[in-house]
Amino acid sequence: MDYLQLRVLPLLALLASLIYFFYFQDSPTLFERSDCSLFPYNHYWIISKRIVTPHGVISGAVEVKEEKIVSIIKEEDWHGNLKKGQIIDYGEAVVMPGLIDVHAHLNDPGRTEWEGFPSGTRAAAAGGITTLIDMPLNNFPATVSAETLKLKIDAAEKNIYVDVGFWGGLVPENAFDANSLEALLSAGALGLKSFMCPSGINDFPMTNSSHIKEGLSILAKYRRPLLVHAEIPQDSESHLENGENDPRSYSTYLKTRPPSWEEAAIRELLTVSKDTRIGGPAEGAHLHVVHLSDAGSSLQLLKEAKSNGDSVTVETCPHYLAFSAEEIKDGDTCFKCAPPIRDAANKERLWTALLEGDIDMLSSDHSPSVPDLKLFDEGNFLKAWGGISSLQVGLSFITNSYNCFISTMPIHVKLYWLTSSRCNLVVIQNIVLQCARLEFQRVGLSSLKLEIVIWWTWITGY
Ligand SMILES: [Zn+2]
Repeated sequence: MDYLQLRVLPLLALLASLIYFFYFQDSPTLFERSDCSLFPYNHYWIISKRIVTPHGVISGAVEVKEEKIVSIIKEEDWHGNLKKGQIIDYGEAVVMPGLIDVHAHLNDPGRTEWEGFPSGTRAAAAGGITTLIDMPLNNFPATVSAETLKLKIDAAEKNIYVDVGFWGGLVPENAFDANSLEALLSAGALGLKSFMCPSGINDFPMTNSSHIKEGLSILAKYRRPLLVHAEIPQDSESHLENGENDPRSYSTYLKTRPPSWEEAAIRELLTVSKDTRIGGPAEGAHLHVVHLSDAGSSLQLLKEAKSNGDSVTVETCPHYLAFSAEEIKDGDTCFKCAPPIRDAANKERLWTALLEGDIDMLSSDHSPSVPDLKLFDEGNFLKAWGGISSLQVGLSFITNSYNCFISTMPIHVKLYWLTSSRCNLVVIQNIVLQCARLEFQRVGLSSLKLEIVIWWTWITGY
């Protein structure tokens, strides 16, 4: 593969995604975009050399009739069946279930200049995501009540291009107000989200373990999860007192949020997660740690909690698997997020944990802002908005995560220009299994209809 292909083809891969939609039955808490099947046919076959199924990748055909998949057959078994309908041959393109992203911030209503439902859900579709669950902040007002959830739903209506569900917020104001939390859950929130550190948004204050314990007791009745941003500030480890740290240097930012913040939060969380065990006072509730970055002690604690029977899961994000602190250039605040992207050795351990099943799923933590807040000119990591916008490119991050090609091109296109040799079927299949099955269960979407993504990759080796 020559230099030009390395730069251009990965971008084409995701831009070429096509999405087909099929029915799902009653899912009152999930908003369904209008019918947008791209084909006029009633009965057709999608043919590909790389169809991802729960049993492996096959060369074969997917039969679609009246907007439902009715069969998937291997090439050697089709015996002329394909003549019964239209045939669309995608050659080497990957055909697989649409991704579900359980963690995206679309900021609508209230901060649509950061991003709103129309552009956010279009980006999701282009990135192979056919369902996303929207976070209860950075929209304004934050989604912490039935009334504010209604504002979200109104904003989404007729403005979305993929299916969208909503998390509610657990904050000190509602944590001890059972009626308010129950109203929020009854109004359709798929679960709750809370922070153990300042969220960066004034109307979404942080919670402590007492608030979380209360939240879990309500969630248990609804059998829904609590998602937690697990970092607790540890003042003694900020290391910036001597004024010698350059705020344009990524290493300076990294020192301000060491792994001990994640570890401290998870240690505290696990004092209440035991309530979720079978027979415990919060049996039925579930704790989910969002965007884990520390693959050391924090991950080990979570593994131990799982083995003790706590109902706990953990996600990480494509940017933690695709990038490492060593390669982030001075002033390149594009890469600022919290917790931070850590070193290459940590990235390797995250990969291992993902592939071995110790990390349960991936999410984007897509968190856009207006460009001004990223302070691109100033390049100050300590003051810039912390959030990575990745709905459209997350799948590309994952499938292209090694030997990243990051050059001197403009910031706004940099994240697209990755290439790699690591992509393999194991990774692709893990993504499918996590996103299309496990995440369904976690967010209570068992009756969701099946959706398909078709995308092109020129990466070889599988
Ligand atoms: Zn987030």
